[in-house]
Amino acid sequence: MHELARGVTLSIAENRSSELYAEALKVLVGGVNSPVRAMRSVGRTPIFIDHGRGAEIFDVDGNGYVDYVCSWGPLIHGHANPEVLAAVVDAASKGMSFGAPTAGEVALAEEVAGRMSSVQMLRMTSSGTEATMTAVRLARAATGREKIIKFIGAYHGHVDGLLAQAGSGLATQAIPSSPGVPTAAAASTVLVPWNDSRALIEATTAHEPAAILAEAIPANMGLVPARPGFVELLRERADATGALLILDEVISGFRVARGGAQDLLGVDADLTVMGKVIGGGLPAGAVGGRAELMQLLAPVGEVYQAGTLSGNPLAVAAGLATLRLLDENAYARLEQITERLAAGLRRAAGDYPVQVVCKPGLLTVFFSESPVEDLSSAQSCDLDAYASWCRGLYARGVYAPPSQFEAWFPSLALTSEQLELTLNSAATVFEELRRQREVAR
Ligand SMILES: *Cc1c(COP(=O)(O)O)cnc(C)c1O
Repeated sequence: MHELARGVTLSIAENRSSELYAEALKVLVGGVNSPVRAMRSVGRTPIFIDHGRGAEIFDVDGNGYVDYVCSWGPLIHGHANPEVLAAVVDAASKGMSFGAPTAGEVALAEEVAGRMSSVQMLRMTSSGTEATMTAVRLARAATGREKIIKFIGAYHGHVDGLLAQAGSGLATQAIPSSPGVPTAAAASTVLVPWNDSRALIEATTAHEPAAILAEAIPANMGLVPARPGFVELLRERADATGALLILDEVISGFRVARGGAQDLLGVDADLTVMGKVIGGGLPAGAVGGRAELMQLLAPVGEVYQAGTLSGNPLAVAAGLATLRLLDENAYARLEQITERLAAGLRRAAGDYPVQVVCKPGLLTVFFSESPVEDLSSAQSCDLDAYASWCRGLYARGVYAPPSQFEAWFPSLALTSEQLELTLNSAATVFEELRRQREVAR
């Protein structure tokens, strides 16, 4: 395929992406298989990808982009990493799936248990959603209780009872935030605003929860880390009320540190939900915890959970190869890359009012005058400005997440040149936004 120069105008209606999108709209709902891919919140149509290499992706029209989505997190080594690819090809050549145990699953479980001190045993799944479902079921079985404390703005997959954010007031009974979710399913979810200690204490006191479920480093309302002491409070309140602490590390696990956010923050979960990086780009998830808790699951215990493709040999091979490349040196490098990117984006913004938040391997540029600490402050960002900035970045060869509420996922494949291109493009687009603001005044 002929690769055009970067920055080719994407607004041309007659390109291959828009043709494919028109075809897709007839046979796939909204033209996509997961809603955010449709790019509606940044006011454009999706870019169809042809291939990726390292930190770059190429669309079907031959435009190249530095990729900061990286499949929403799994591709911490970038695209088509040679070692990960070789592991997958080798596994595939031996057969795709057996529905019987393989050595790779044992090796991956050992690798994860060696990284996370709170995890002795695992059950693998095909997605993060399934892993969350399993963790919640386990917590209910272990405690004999039903209520789950969930934080507003946290995402744990499209589990019925967890698709509830729109409660009224603090710590109220949740109402479903998607049609099709039974009221009964959402009724056992108790919502608490993130970073709100008082609401957490009240909710845990009032409700006898089976579990407190939290993203250890929330990244689904943009990146909104805990205030100092808040993650410790989760542990304390779980212990004080006989609830389990479930930390959802689908994003943070194996990204922010060798042992995930628990390693970084020094807090242990009772159950840990994993996904994304653990599958290295193939469908995989897992739930892990202490042996006595995990062994409530069938076939040892009575809590039923199963999956035709769970522990799939290709996914396990991709996950294991991905994790084996992630040594302390890799984490130090990813932290450096992220900090360079964050500092550069702050410089590029100049006096334009944004908040650049980062953790190793994660970053968000909030279009906000003041710090973002929960969903409601995230929702008060200037979403139109983010959308314009994002469209401007696409036109200049930078593939940023097409939503203010999603994190950037810088990869270890990023080169200095790609970082420089990113920062130059960002500065140019900020300058355009600044001029538009002046004209509007
Ligand atoms: C992506 C995500 C999930 C869901 O994982 P899927 O593999 O998409 O089902 C769960 N929790 C968090 C924090 C996530 O970011």
